[in-house]
Amino acid sequence: MEKTNNFGKVYLIGAGPGDPGLLTLRAHAILEKADVVVYDRLVSPAILGMCNSKAKMVDVGKMPTHHKVKQSEINKLLVKFACEMSGATIARLKGGDPFVFGRGGEEALELVAAGVEFEVVPGVTSAIAVPAYAGIPVSHRGIATSFHIITGHEKIDERRETRDERRESSSSVILEPKAIESTHDEKCKDECVGESLPLASVSTNDKKVVELVETSATLSPRGSTPKTPDESLSEKPVGLDFETLAHCPGTLVFLMGIGNMDFIARRLIECGKDPKTPLAFIEKGTTPFQRTVMATLETAGETIVREHVTAPAITIMGGVVELGNSLAWRKSLPLSGKRLVVTRAAKQSSGISARLTALGAEVIETPMIETRDVPPYCRAGLRSGISNSSENKVAEPVELEDLKNFDILAFTSTNGVESFFKQLFAAGYDVRVLAGKKIASVGKITEKKLLEYGIRCDYVPKDHTGEGLGLLLQKVVGDESRVLLLQGNLADDTLLKLLPKATRWTVYETLPVAELPDWKREAIASADAIVFASSSAVENFCAVIPAKAGISFDHCPYTSFCIGRMTEASAKKHGFETVTSDETTMDSLVKKIVEYYTMGENA
Ligand code: SAH
Repeated sequence: MEKTNNFGKVYLIGAGPGDPGLLTLRAHAILEKADVVVYDRLVSPAILGMCNSKAKMVDVGKMPTHHKVKQSEINKLLVKFACEMSGATIARLKGGDPFVFGRGGEEALELVAAGVEFEVVPGVTSAIAVPAYAGIPVSHRGIATSFHIITGHEKIDERRETRDERRESSSSVILEPKAIESTHDEKCKDECVGESLPLASVSTNDKKVVELVETSATLSPRGSTPKTPDESLSEKPVGLDFETLAHCPGTLVFLMGIGNMDFIARRLIECGKDPKTPLAFIEKGTTPFQRTVMATLETAGETIVREHVTAPAITIMGGVVELGNSLAWRKSLPLSGKRLVVTRAAKQSSGISARLTALGAEVIETPMIETRDVPPYCRAGLRSGISNSSENKVAEPVELEDLKNFDILAFTSTNGVESFFKQLFAAGYDVRVLAGKKIASVGKITEKKLLEYGIRCDYVPKDHTGEGLGLLLQKVVGDESRVLLLQGNLADDTLLKLLPKATRWTVYETLPVAELPDWKREAIASADAIVFASSSAVENFCAVIPAKAGISFDHCPYTSFCIGRMTEASAKKHGFETVTSDETTMDSLVKKIVEYYTMGENA
């Protein structure tokens, strides 16, 4: 058997603008098997929730100190993971498309330099999809024959100069980019995919002065000197050619430009663009929090302040914007804008999650248990045959080399398949080690998972149960066949009882969730409510989540939606405000949640 020693492979993946439905099939397939996911802030929780639950999740949008990770460090991190994790799948997950103002090109160059194999998985860019979700086509026959995607970043010095000149003559709205203190800049100067965030607005005499603080690289204080080649790259002036843009008849789409938009609009008008040009700001497009705010070029700055337009948002300008009045197809749904945590003890909650999502909510699914790969072990007494329960037997490690002693391998879960192959590959083997063996699966899902590894099943029972598999194998295996069961630590003894000569290796364990990734902690902390579908879900949630999520339940901040009185009693005991369904059914629970948000708290 050959052993391999390759670097991991990095996938630069576009996550799309937010709606998980806009993730590509390719991206989804990679995220499901990724060993590491290095993700940005703009990636929605729903997509992070789709990643392999065993993947190491690395948030480079924010560090524990709430400082961003510098681009140069992200580049190094990707190379490090690839070099240190032989054969691993490393997903670099970015909002929208990785090559549209996403710095994906820089990361790819770094990977090339380090000899790391990579692949680009394009994503649906916000520049086109976000207007589309607001009913605005970026091009339209007779209105716009081209569209232009522009970064709203601009060199601060240039901006100040122009502003200072203008200040002397202008009497209308003046943009005053607040000088950014060095502490603020420290965390922002390397970030070109940052957001623009209007933080304050003030009025002075007859001049309205809008103060905007931006979390963007190009808004560094004057005179800040680049320290590394990477930083100098990111701080290169990105001066906009306003003359050309003002005379361009196509649609203009600005990304990252909210904080600069008053200035940009003013400059475009100065350069001859019609002040009445229709314009739309679309905030958090394609997510449950999407909002469209209409304006014109001349009212851009004041509209941002009045309507508190915040990042992430795009600005789209041109005649096509008016189509949004007739084509805004995305209806406001009863749960739009609500973030609901759905506790998931097993598989039963995905039904309710899908229904709440369809009603407009952002659903954060929180499993209370997780599976972990373990080096395969066998409990004493199970190596060849069992007559009683496996409890209290001593675990003995096994050698993968011993696979040669078996004729039939039986898998009873996708977890078992994944853990087994992961360890097989990590030990330097490949699928040839299974040559000549018969493979059995408990059902279709496990069978499909095996196919992903290039393994076709020989035996799958009709009724997809452990008992069905045991009975089938009883019929097909001869007395001499050596059967190996690859299972989790909680597997019951059904199969072993039906196949007393079989051997069981435990290849994964199911344990209470050990750690919540940052994104999930934050999502839970900022949720509107928690949905409990059973009293045990309440108990498990309270036993596991508060400590992991850093949430104190002394002053429990959550409303909880409970399925019936028993669940309600448990939630009350833990200090939750409760809203309880009339009947103990999912239908009734969903109905109650909708009533609560559409008719007020007394529903
Ligand atoms: N690579 C991304 C763009 C990164 S730049 C893409 O292809 O979409 C980040 C900017 O994208 C944000 O400042 C904002 O202008 C825009 N953006 C990304 N997601 C958005 C969303 N859901 N709604 C509105 N704007 C979004």
